[in-house]
Amino acid sequence: MKFIVLFLGLLVRPQAVSLTRRFESEKVFRVVPQNETQVNFLKVLASDVQLDFWHPDSVHHIVIGTEVDFQVSLHLANYVLMKLEQNELQYEVLFHNLQEQIEKQFDGGNYFRKMHSYTKYNDWEKIVAWTERIARNNPKMVSRIEMGKTSEGRPMYLLKVGKVTGQKKVIFMECGIHAREWISPAFCQWFVKQATHTYGEDKVMTKLLDSMNFYVLPVFNVDGYVWTWTNNRFWRKNRSNNSNSDCIGTDLNRNFKAAWSTVGASDKPCNEIYCGTSPESEPETKELANFIRDHLDVIKGYISFHSYSQLLMFPYGYTYKLAPNHDELNKVAKGAVDALATVYGTNYTYGPIAETIYLSSGSSLDWASRRGH
Ligand SMILES: [Zn+2]
Repeated sequence: MKFIVLFLGLLVRPQAVSLTRRFESEKVFRVVPQNETQVNFLKVLASDVQLDFWHPDSVHHIVIGTEVDFQVSLHLANYVLMKLEQNELQYEVLFHNLQEQIEKQFDGGNYFRKMHSYTKYNDWEKIVAWTERIARNNPKMVSRIEMGKTSEGRPMYLLKVGKVTGQKKVIFMECGIHAREWISPAFCQWFVKQATHTYGEDKVMTKLLDSMNFYVLPVFNVDGYVWTWTNNRFWRKNRSNNSNSDCIGTDLNRNFKAAWSTVGASDKPCNEIYCGTSPESEPETKELANFIRDHLDVIKGYISFHSYSQLLMFPYGYTYKLAPNHDELNKVAKGAVDALATVYGTNYTYGPIAETIYLSSGSSLDWASRRGH
């Protein structure tokens, strides 16, 4: 098997806790533009008023016939509604009061607020304590590595999971590159739990852990993740300062050296898909890229987890050109999607990123894939 790189979308809507910024009566609309005029109307609307795009990631990525979900503040909601109606765009209101939805995430009460839980979202402090604990409790299977520091100086912890000693094949799993996609770090934690709990019982898991190691990065964008808990539930980028701009943060998933800053990325610091000043300009990107470079001989696969969608995608994102190992990637993706459907009938779409969603450059996946060839 060659180098396999996958992007997995997990279906859970962004949801959070007692935050500085509240989203009382903020709304999320869903529209599906049917023609070029409607696409252009949305682009003009987005330049006219502040809209936060949930899906796709940015107004740049809007295309005919695909769902567009965006968040609108209370004071703009009526104006946006009027505009949608004037332009005959059919819409659906996914959320009428976002704050209510945010609060629903904490349905476990005080107990869950204090304890780490695999079925609730955990803040960064709890995740740090968990990485330490799970390594301590499973010394023959899990070890914790500090990969580097974030732009605000927080440690980036990586868990090495597997029974193998020495140089064996490795799959790298990256979670939490986008701060608000909380289900992604939750998934990485769940995976480590499954590995440690089912080893010796589940045949597939036992075989995997006996034959290879997993490097699991539960939260890549730590500073952004902390910010989503303390200040703004819908923060996406990291938290580094930008010179000549008051806007904070770079989209780490546009900051890798893979056709950097060419398509589907912005060179404007205020944009949600801002690519940074140069490839690996961000400490988080640099640390991860250095780690991969140092372990390139053993890393055979790279998986990046995002939300929300039900998509399993593989390179490339920056071009419609097919990857050299496209047939193999496609076969692996089909196998995974078919297997997933057998459990609960969950239906994932699969394909190359550019074709399946939109063009985007500088992603971790494209970068990892090009390193692997
Ligand atoms: Zn994402």
